[in-house]
Amino acid sequence: ATPTAIMVGTGLGAKRGVLFKNASALEASARIDTVVMDKTGTLTKGEPAVTDVIVDGIDDVDLLALVSAVERESEHPLARAIVSHATSAGAPVLTATGFRNVPGRGATATVDGRRVLVGNRRLMADEGVELGNLAARRDELAASGRTAVVVAVDGRAAGVVALADAARDTSSAAVAAMRGSGIQVVMLTGDNEATARRIADQLGIDTVIAEVLPGDKAARVAELQASGRRVAMVGDGVNDAPALARADIGIAIGAGTDVAIETADIVLMRSDPLDVPVALRIGKGTLRKMR
Ligand code: ADP
Ligand code: MG
Repeated sequence: ATPTAIMVGTGLGAKRGVLFKNASALEASARIDTVVMDKTGTLTKGEPAVTDVIVDGIDDVDLLALVSAVERESEHPLARAIVSHATSAGAPVLTATGFRNVPGRGATATVDGRRVLVGNRRLMADEGVELGNLAARRDELAASGRTAVVVAVDGRAAGVVALADAARDTSSAAVAAMRGSGIQVVMLTGDNEATARRIADQLGIDTVIAEVLPGDKAARVAELQASGRRVAMVGDGVNDAPALARADIGIAIGAGTDVAIETADIVLMRSDPLDVPVALRIGKGTLRKMR
């Protein structure tokens, strides 16, 4: 593109808080045919809240005391939501020892002499925990779009804590705008398949890549590229940074982590998903002016 076209495009973007870090970001935006969007914190607000606590053979406040002791040691957004729910429910504060984070799966620690595991089905399977009576409730909660976290105490499934994270107000409009201009929209998430699928349906997204481990997001982007797609990746988290770097264009949500913002080619200062199609349109406009 000509220097003038680039200046105009950059200026148009800046007015809306769409920051193009360099001229090649502007030019590459014009050629994107696939937009991969992280779920948590990108399509959703990234502020999960506990909606249900299901218990089996334990009092729910006791369960919350054990879980929150583990989660107090974790930085995960789900962990913070569980701790705050436990506090409002009046659960006593217990001390956890030997805390261990299991990326993409959950966390574990010893609380009051009991070994507490908190996380997804994969974590339970790895540790040989059977869901038993709780399996059906877990599946229902996941199918309703909630993130269902299983809690095991001394190797026995004792409860499920379900969390919901509301979609951003403009997520479905952003998806519709992109699909309307012939762009394929893909949801990429570490969350489980049923939860992701339900939220994707609500937003009009038909392609879902779920249960992706934090270190594998970039590889999934690379696979799409290998199949001939020109990919923009939109994300907010530390987990997303390698995928943002790998994509033809990395787009960071302004409210996201510093690492995502530093890695991205474009930053959406208003954290509005609708600014994704806006950025791509500005790119196209810039390219047109160059012809
Ligand atoms: P996302 O891409 O949705 O942020 P992560 O890779 O961080 O996902 O985590 C994937 C899944 O692992 C979560 O949906 C959750 O089920 C489980 N998980 C990870 N960390 C925790 C934790 N501290 N407490 C409970 N569950 C967790
Ligand atoms: Mg995220």
